[in-house]
Amino acid sequence: LEAPLFADVAGDIDVSFEFFPPKSATMEATLWDSIGTLAPLGPRFVSVTYGAGGTTRERTHATVARIARETAIPAAAHLTCVEATREEIDAVANEYWAAGVRHIVALRGDPPRAGERYAAHPGGYENAAALVEGLRRLHPFEVSVACYPECHPDSNDATADLDNLKRKIDAGATRAISQFFFSPDVFFRYRDAVAAAGLDAEIVPGIMPVSNFAAVQRMSAMCGTEVPAWMERLFAGLDDLPGARQLVSATLAAELCRKLYAGGVKQFHFYTLNRAELSFAICHLLGVRAQADDGRAAA
Ligand code: FAD
Repeated sequence: LEAPLFADVAGDIDVSFEFFPPKSATMEATLWDSIGTLAPLGPRFVSVTYGAGGTTRERTHATVARIARETAIPAAAHLTCVEATREEIDAVANEYWAAGVRHIVALRGDPPRAGERYAAHPGGYENAAALVEGLRRLHPFEVSVACYPECHPDSNDATADLDNLKRKIDAGATRAISQFFFSPDVFFRYRDAVAAAGLDAEIVPGIMPVSNFAAVQRMSAMCGTEVPAWMERLFAGLDDLPGARQLVSATLAAELCRKLYAGGVKQFHFYTLNRAELSFAICHLLGVRAQADDGRAAA
């Protein structure tokens, strides 16, 4: 795959950033610092996750509403179906609409107790596709959904997984953000399969810069992402060297993005884990630079 040098990559890349709602005042300060650093890059949107079982319902709402209020960046709220009735979920969605939030990342969510099989709430939305349909019935939200280049662990096979994505797109989702992955070929194969299935939605790679390799290994095992053996060798010996680890991590993620770009990918979604530096450095290497209007609303 012939890839341009970093310096040649400029001008035509769109990025978005994902955050999680802060649990404490210190974490909140870190989050707002990060938003302040990343906002000038002019992201298409930033999104805020929704904790398992709706545990972050208020915090997600407060964070999204503050982004909508205090910055000019379009804010997206994640919403899941876990342990909630349709009425409860509709009420949350109505609050978002009233707060001026127009973009929802619609998800099924995971079972509240790890390892159990997912069971839909008897009065709730059965899965993400049903949630997309419900949201679109309530308001003309822009709806993004999740997709899985290496298959969701609950899917019997890649065909069932694509069928599920098709149901979400048919229900009104216009963008699918991928689970994180570490090999560009994994994404290219998936993109080809999506195209071959005739699905008409933006497929945006989710990029996870590795700040804690052991944590990424654990998450990967749970969600079915393959961690190449060379990655383990690359991070070996760096546990006590955070600076070196950051450099390796940024290089690795930028290299993944660069290869994706060389294969025609122009949109990237970063799992920031509320830390700006890695995502900022990767964007910088990709030629994404601060814009004249730094994304903040005028006072
Ligand atoms: P769905 O698309 O509903 O499907 C999940 C699986 O079930 C698929 O394998 C599908 O094939 C199968 N399935 C669904 N319906 C049927 C059916 N009728 N018949 C047969 N099989 C079916 N989790 C959170 O808790 N909060 C978040 O904020 C959050 N954000 C995320 C953001 C992104 C970009 C991604 C990729 C994931 C996120 N997750 C989040 C994790 C997500 O909730 C889990 O991956 C969850 O297990 C699946 O959610 P989904 O929306 O993909 O589910």
